[in-house]
Amino acid sequence: MDQIRCHTCRNPVASYDVISFGSMEKGYRDLCSRCFNAEVAENGGFAFEQVDFLPMEIMDFAGVKHNFKFRLLHLGDRVTLEAFEVDDGERGGYEFQILSDAQADPFKLMARLVERIRRALSQRHLVDEGEGCSIATDVVRGKISCDLQSQDRVPMLVIDGREISWDQFGQMLMTFEGWQFKLEIKDASEEV
Ligand SMILES: [Zn+2]
Repeated sequence: MDQIRCHTCRNPVASYDVISFGSMEKGYRDLCSRCFNAEVAENGGFAFEQVDFLPMEIMDFAGVKHNFKFRLLHLGDRVTLEAFEVDDGERGGYEFQILSDAQADPFKLMARLVERIRRALSQRHLVDEGEGCSIATDVVRGKISCDLQSQDRVPMLVIDGREISWDQFGQMLMTFEGWQFKLEIKDASEEV
């Protein structure tokens, strides 16, 4: 796993947990979430109690356990709580985020986020078919990520916590040739 030293406390931080903090003029520093939150609180002149949530296993529709890590970040007037899986030292698989105002109780946010994760993981969108897979019903939910392997700027989709290339998804859609579709795009903090 790639580790980076936090610029402030000098503790090693996993690369998926590092926050690049700063500005174009002053430059950027790599911070751990604890130091990031402390600095945002200090700049804003308010108190902030750091809460570290332990990782949690949540089962999906097929009974497979997913190990979620959590990160609470202070953004000044708002807080965000993220939940993500780590695959091979990088963020990968399911990812969720909840946004709230700065006064929100982190434990209530955590309860809301876990409920949302449970609802999302209970939904199955893809079914395996031999080598490939197909769309289970007529609704697909997922995340638009970036395909770093591709020469073209095309998305890598994350559906049911699995990476599905743009090509693969195109092939799956061909089952519905002649049908119509409606594509609705939502912010990462909204429930789809
Ligand atoms: Zn630090």
